[in-house]
Amino acid sequence: MQLDELQRNARDIGPVGASAPKITAVSDVDTDRFERQKRLEGWDQKRIADSTALVAGAGALGNEIVKNLVLLGIGTIYLVDFDHVVSSNLSRCIFFRQSDSRRRSLKAEVVSKRAERVTRNTKVIPLREDLENLDKKIYKKIDIAFGGLDNLAARIQLNIDCYYNRVPLVDGGMEGLQGQVQVMMPPDTACLCCSLTEKDWDIIWSRLSCTGPIGERKMPAISTTTSIISAIQVQEALKIIFGIENYRKNKKWNEFFGEPLLGKRLFYAGASEVFRIYEISKNDKCYVCGSLVEKEGLQRAKEKAG
Ligand SMILES: [Zn+2]
Repeated sequence: MQLDELQRNARDIGPVGASAPKITAVSDVDTDRFERQKRLEGWDQKRIADSTALVAGAGALGNEIVKNLVLLGIGTIYLVDFDHVVSSNLSRCIFFRQSDSRRRSLKAEVVSKRAERVTRNTKVIPLREDLENLDKKIYKKIDIAFGGLDNLAARIQLNIDCYYNRVPLVDGGMEGLQGQVQVMMPPDTACLCCSLTEKDWDIIWSRLSCTGPIGERKMPAISTTTSIISAIQVQEALKIIFGIENYRKNKKWNEFFGEPLLGKRLFYAGASEVFRIYEISKNDKCYVCGSLVEKEGLQRAKEKAG
């Protein structure tokens, strides 16, 4: 088939997205690892390769987020987790093996080592840290952060650090067949804490006052929901990576990838396969991004909270 005929066919069939696929020289079709994704309009492989992400949590979501980022060819990932592999992780974590749980290997180190076997295009740097004690200079080096955490105190810590360092954050959570994703673009959108209840705040104050985290129950979890939520997280991150430069200049996003779910929370209900998106308003009384904190500081706000 001639090249012009291929192009004609491509136009006739019509793409899933907004525009016709690019036709690449035959020699690149099989030899370039990223050839298929480069066919997407608005794609910029160099921008991905030059990007650095922080992935908080090397559990179920963290494994899948890293897998997706590695396949896309992101340059660098800082993977933060102080925990070790146990057998109950194995049903949802593609990078873990039974031998890792026997050895009690560190999750972040295992993912880093195995991701390297997939490709050398991405450097996965494991950080055996609690988010609270993480060197905050990391936030100056990253373009985007992902929350793949299973406890509220750590998610709030990540939210605070991303807010004060103005790092876009894509947070994910799940329980059984349900999941959610929220995208935060500090300081423009609501932060993760804007919608917290008083009970949620009780947990963070206990953490901040060094009395230790309140024990949180283990959630039911399944690999399918994990894949869906983490894939949406990374899809949203692509929109940010490709569009943020323009957004900062003129508030417009990459026309082919669209606008991320800014200030919104997506809920996924697996039992009915329904997605719903809700607006999350900025809360003036939020202890992280509200005007109370802007004026009086987090410490004062904490005292006020009692
Ligand atoms: Zn807030």
